[in-house]
Amino acid sequence: MTIIPNDLTQEKVESQKLLGKVAIITGGSRGIGSTIAKELAVQGANVVINYNSSKGAAQSVVNEIEELGGNAIMCQANVANMEEAHYLIEKTRSLFGRVDILVNNAGITRDRTFRNMSKEEWYEIIDVNLNSVYHTTSAVINTMIEQKFGRIINISSIIGQAGGFGQTNYSASKAGLIGFTKSLALETAKNGITVNAVCPGYIETEMFAAIPSNVVEQIVSKIPMKRLGSTNEVAEAVLFLANSSYITGQSINVNGGMYM
Ligand code: NAP
Repeated sequence: MTIIPNDLTQEKVESQKLLGKVAIITGGSRGIGSTIAKELAVQGANVVINYNSSKGAAQSVVNEIEELGGNAIMCQANVANMEEAHYLIEKTRSLFGRVDILVNNAGITRDRTFRNMSKEEWYEIIDVNLNSVYHTTSAVINTMIEQKFGRIINISSIIGQAGGFGQTNYSASKAGLIGFTKSLALETAKNGITVNAVCPGYIETEMFAAIPSNVVEQIVSKIPMKRLGSTNEVAEAVLFLANSSYITGQSINVNGGMYM
């Protein structure tokens, strides 16, 4: 069961900077996405927790948010699939009447050196990490333009900036998100919409747990802060961008100084 981070206190519940806003978090069932969902809910947003297969984990996040006095629903959709992603946005719109914040967080890895990488491993990563963002954003953009308000926050990665051994597929998908972010920011700035990316470094989640411990030690030794990041530290950046009105087209690094 996911533990509520210690700093999600009653005090934060009372500040409610996002009261009445509607937020969708893709891949909100686990890891970074679940912490983002809880942070946004604690600030008063109605949150839609998207998941693909982890129904039980998504239900736990909904339960935790309700215990904190927040409002959340869950919605199963494989965002790599255009129709399912559109269903996620349509369901949100029909239940809440609007969509204010879209956090494109769903992501996976299929690491392998380029010479050994299969076509399936390439396409799966591009579909889940990059094409998914086209799917959700294309479904929501007209609503945000009509509202004259929108916050689109894409979870990229340090690997999209610096590259990563055995990660040509993942790196290409995450670098693609940064270019997408800047271009869409240019096109929608006049409509009250901001589009930004967050680039986490190495964050302690299940995705990271798959890396062998000797490799983890090597990675930590190269991080100037000499530790992994927490999901809460990424969620703080997302919350900041959700509340910001004059920042657009930016990538915020949350990486302990690993890439500057
Ligand atoms: P995680 O713990 O493995 O969680 C991934 C989440 O994405 C899960 O909720 C999963 O839902 C969802 N997901 C995967 N495929 C999906 C699909 N096709 N449709 C809908 N949801 C899907 O990963 P994480 O570490 O929190 O990573 C979250 C994001 O941060 C990713 O984009 C990742 O690339 C990025 N990131 C992570 C790190 C890190 O060190 N952890 C660093 C940089 C960037 P189900 O379980 O239901 O499938």
